Amino acid sequence: MKISVIICAAGKGERAGFNKNKLLAPLFGAPALWHTLRVFSKPRFDEVIVVSSKRDEQEISALCAPFGFKTVIGGETRTASVYNALKRATGEIALIHDGARPFVNENIILNCINGVKKYGSAICAAPFTDTAAMVEDGKIISVPQRKSVYSLQTPQGFYLKDILSAYEKAVRDGNVYTDDSSVYAAYIGEPHICEGSEGNKKLTYAQDFNCGYGGVIEVTGLRTGFGVDVHSFGKEQNFVTLCGVEIPCDSGLIAHSDGDVAVHAVMDALLSAAGLKDIGHYFPVDDERFDGADSLKLLAQVISLLAESGFKASGLSLAIQAEKPRLAPYINQMKQKLAKACSLPEEKIGVTAGTSEGLGFVGEGRGICAYCTAVLKEIKDGEN
Ligand code: MG
Repeated sequence: MKISVIICAAGKGERAGFNKNKLLAPLFGAPALWHTLRVFSKPRFDEVIVVSSKRDEQEISALCAPFGFKTVIGGETRTASVYNALKRATGEIALIHDGARPFVNENIILNCINGVKKYGSAICAAPFTDTAAMVEDGKIISVPQRKSVYSLQTPQGFYLKDILSAYEKAVRDGNVYTDDSSVYAAYIGEPHICEGSEGNKKLTYAQDFNCGYGGVIEVTGLRTGFGVDVHSFGKEQNFVTLCGVEIPCDSGLIAHSDGDVAVHAVMDALLSAAGLKDIGHYFPVDDERFDGADSLKLLAQVISLLAESGFKASGLSLAIQAEKPRLAPYINQMKQKLAKACSLPEEKIGVTAGTSEGLGFVGEGRGICAYCTAVLKEIKDGEN
């Protein structure tokens, strides 16, 4: 079923006191609205229409462009704004969402879509945790039972033909509503609720932008991994190979491959981040094809394995502990080699080196140890 999403961003947000649309104020380093748009950037939605005021049109269109979302100009009231967008929508189901709710997540949205399919309407709602009261002239006149009080959130989902006809009538009658469920209730029928979440807060006041309530922006599409490797000295050789760089040393590292302990840690970190098996699985030590192998070439194979699994490296941080040889003069070369093998810009790779202050096997000069963390990004369709 074709789904149209309408995101309301045409308000002034005066209660936040930013002297501009609060949705353009920064939240976690990006305009608040950007976070909301990002949640709806999944292919599940056939069209996303963002309602903007004339004043903010340029800025909001620029935010929408990378996502391929349309913008429409809103009206004087929320009711008029949503109506303008509904007239442009072409889906069978319309989800209407406040741009000021960036903490919405996929579960909530799915609940809403499923609710519409089942009941014809689905208003995301969360049970009220405080005691609610009706107040007039500063006096409590009634206290509804807590279990029957919910706070209504967005998205609010409907069949497009129903909600469009309700809005047509509301505009015709000159009625103004603060949410879509009220419009539906006035002209179509009793709206059904679906499970929202207490975390799906609305940014209203300036302090909400400091996320004092512990709001969390879900980071998707990133993975982290950790890898460690150790090799011991003892090979009759006058260098060690670290990140493909041959560094003079009074002893080489014992290994079946070239003993590149640093690259081995990198490979394990990358494989681990992708949820794959360790390097011993892909390059077994008893396989003579890997005798004396150039570990950078194996790293390139790991990068191909990641690509087959839908990932690409996004950042590496490598720490090497060695009492000998002195590594500082070689760090830049090591970075360059890693960058090339991983198809990463050098600035996304960190390589640090230190000794172990004479402690343990590293400190006693018996071997070299390397630790690496890796960040991977999911490859989206059409990216490479
Ligand atoms: Mg190793």
